[in-house]
Amino acid sequence: MVNNYANMLNKIIAEENIQKAKKLVNKYDKIIIITHTSPDGDALGSSLGLYHFLTEYGKQVNVIVPNEFPEFLRWMPGIDEVIIAEGDLPLVSETVDAAELIFFLDFNVLKRIEQLEPLAKKSRAAKILIDHHLDPEIFSDVVISHPDISSTSELVFRFICRMGLFDYVDKSCAECIYTGMMMDTGAFTYNSNSPAIYYIISELLGKGIDKDAIHSQVYCKCSERKIRMQGYVLYNKMKIFRNYKTSLISLSYEEHQQFKSQKGDTEGFVNIPLSINNIVFSAFIREEKEVVRISLRSRGNFPTNQFAGEVFGGGGHLNASGGEFYGKLEDALRLFEEALPRYKHLLI
Ligand code: 5GP
Ligand code: MN
Repeated sequence: MVNNYANMLNKIIAEENIQKAKKLVNKYDKIIIITHTSPDGDALGSSLGLYHFLTEYGKQVNVIVPNEFPEFLRWMPGIDEVIIAEGDLPLVSETVDAAELIFFLDFNVLKRIEQLEPLAKKSRAAKILIDHHLDPEIFSDVVISHPDISSTSELVFRFICRMGLFDYVDKSCAECIYTGMMMDTGAFTYNSNSPAIYYIISELLGKGIDKDAIHSQVYCKCSERKIRMQGYVLYNKMKIFRNYKTSLISLSYEEHQQFKSQKGDTEGFVNIPLSINNIVFSAFIREEKEVVRISLRSRGNFPTNQFAGEVFGGGGHLNASGGEFYGKLEDALRLFEEALPRYKHLLI
């Protein structure tokens, strides 16, 4: 087995968890993979990566997501097999009932899978969680939780290698894993100083991935509409709070409609203000049909997850988190602005 770099990875997943999980994988044939609502590159990358691996390994596998994924991920190998629960809950309910083993990927609390939560709770299947968010709720037989690892996709790769099944990683699996690792590190610009990341990329390249092409698929296929909306948002809707080294972008439902915006069109907007000198905290607050969504990002040590939790009841990672607000957009914006002074000591 040619597996030079993967063997150099330190064994961060506990051996006991590997053995327990491997037993379950070998025992059961009908396996489903569930990831979080509004699936992002790491959610789909880890899920489809695991899907390709398990399929190669001879299992019958379904990937289920609560709702639609963004257009810029539609190229991913296996994406057409993904079941979107929103579209067909009866089929999903049947699939979950029939499952013998469920993998939960890239989320830590069951409410992140929305309408799938009751189905998952009711299911008598064995359950394995693989995730990198802080403080996982315990709802699985095996909990592989490593908040210090920058993507769930990396954890899935480590999981496969540690089971000794690297040979079952095919090119499609490798492409999905790479996509997840790339997207949860801003194309390897944050949370990406661990040498292991680059050992893993070496292995993925060895499986035949074209990393430049993947980058281009994800970041260089924007619609003209998205780029124009980005221009509008940055010119008209970005508020800078110099005293707090903070930026806030807001977008109303009306504005979304005006630009005929589609899912994924606003992806990445929240990161842009962090390229302004001396801005360390960026928020993007947008009004959707039934909810106001909050996305937070930071550079350095500002704990966006603490802010998201305390102000909006959300959560996430130190540098990237989010939350929801049920109410008017203006009220969410006011809540944000009024909270800033309480965090001044962490911002300045
Ligand atoms: P995004 O800004 O991309 O929607 O979310 C960034 C990160 O914040 C996600 O990866 C997830 O960890 C976290 N997050 C987003 N929305 C929520 C939420 O409503 N609740 C919790 N607990 N975490 C969230
Ligand atoms: Mn992730």
